[in-house]
Amino acid sequence: MHNFHKIELHNRKVLVVGLGITGLYAARWLAKQGAVVTVSEARSETELNSTTCKEVRKLGIALETGRHQEATFLKSEMIVLSPGVPHDMGPLQAAKKTGIPVTGELELASRLIDTPMIAVTGTNGKSTVTALLGSLLKNANLKVFVGGNIGTPLIAYVEGEEKADYVVVEVSSFQLDTIETFCPLISLLLNISPDHLDRYASYEDYTQSKLRIFMNQKPGQHVILNDDDETLASVIPPSGVSVFRFGVKRKEGRHAYVQDKEIRASLSGGEHISFSFKSFRLPGKHNMENLLAVVLAGLILGIEPSVIQQTIGDFKGLPNRLEHVAEFGGVEFYNDSKATNVDAAVRAITSFDRPLILIAGGRHKGADYARLVKAARGGVRKAIFLGESRELLASSFEGVVPFLMAEDMDEAVSIAFSQADRGDAVLLAPACSSFDMFSDYAHRGMVFRSAVERLSHG
Ligand code: ADP
Repeated sequence: MHNFHKIELHNRKVLVVGLGITGLYAARWLAKQGAVVTVSEARSETELNSTTCKEVRKLGIALETGRHQEATFLKSEMIVLSPGVPHDMGPLQAAKKTGIPVTGELELASRLIDTPMIAVTGTNGKSTVTALLGSLLKNANLKVFVGGNIGTPLIAYVEGEEKADYVVVEVSSFQLDTIETFCPLISLLLNISPDHLDRYASYEDYTQSKLRIFMNQKPGQHVILNDDDETLASVIPPSGVSVFRFGVKRKEGRHAYVQDKEIRASLSGGEHISFSFKSFRLPGKHNMENLLAVVLAGLILGIEPSVIQQTIGDFKGLPNRLEHVAEFGGVEFYNDSKATNVDAAVRAITSFDRPLILIAGGRHKGADYARLVKAARGGVRKAIFLGESRELLASSFEGVVPFLMAEDMDEAVSIAFSQADRGDAVLLAPACSSFDMFSDYAHRGMVFRSAVERLSHG
């Protein structure tokens, strides 16, 4: 069903860098195409999933663990990068210098896919919008593959038997860094705010990498842009591509906005279609922005307004994103473990109109916490800091918002509860990544949830 002939792989020496889920899928697929595959992974074998290692070896794939050896890179004929791999890594630079082609899984997979793609990027909201689009398309009785960063790598679609009407793919800036031909039918740019400054030379570089999402788009294809976002409001996609802008207030040139307590959308700029959001369960202005983007995509795809309306009411949101965990002793607990950067944490804080006890901290990613302090002033009664960044957070909050330190999540939750009054909410919105104390954000969210459960069971 798919056109596999665009890349010659048989007997080609291919190196896959990184053995996360994407690396595993890519290596497996490449091996099935007859490529001679090696996987290079910086983590040692004991840190890796043993089933994964076994599976890789069983497929005849050579596995190098513990470090990336330059020689391994130099003897390959093509290199496929996992999304998390730093591009400035020495062996990779050396390989690039000798002219070995380097690509990412997104580029590799998309070259092999002829199903129209809807691609979602942005600093925050990608997974929420990807999942929401997925359920919209399903509700419209369309066959859809939902993947990319959100879970199942895109290459799994290439591998699979089922042909979909549409592929909805969540893409990160790291994946966009290695695209050459990737060209979605619709691209959605949700927002850009400082993140991953530990991985990019500058904020400008990070922004440029996100904008690559539409660089290959052509007339007849579409871009959806957040007009409330300072950077995106002035972005100009390739000429001939149709551009649709959304923002929460009505403004000249916006195709979707909120007015009189309803969403209004019009692709032509003429007569608008209205949608009620009374039944929409996701809190905060940011989720309204996410919804506006999805409504526009739905209309572009010709989905019936009634199906869009039904999806608005159906969608329950994703775990770890401003997720309501429990109510105990008159205090509500919210898990926004996925708030791994300052903007997401600010959005979380500003979504509440009740006093908050904020739990924050984790691995510092180079961001400035001034905006977090500003958002916390007034609304946050007390902050509890944990993890590697706690001292940095403390010095930013000093004299503005009172705070306490915690050693672990259990302690953070019990301190938070002891500081809360009835009617307050305890919010986990770390503004930092989780890798200092947890395997990922989902693990951090789970530990938070169990700490709350333990507390409520006394
Ligand atoms: P991503 O896949 O881009 O990380 P998620 O949907 O998983 O996005 O949400 C990540 C974090 O950002 C969560 O804390 C969520 O509450 C918050 N968030 C969701 N949508 C937005 C948005 N449009 N702007 C800012 N923050 C958002």
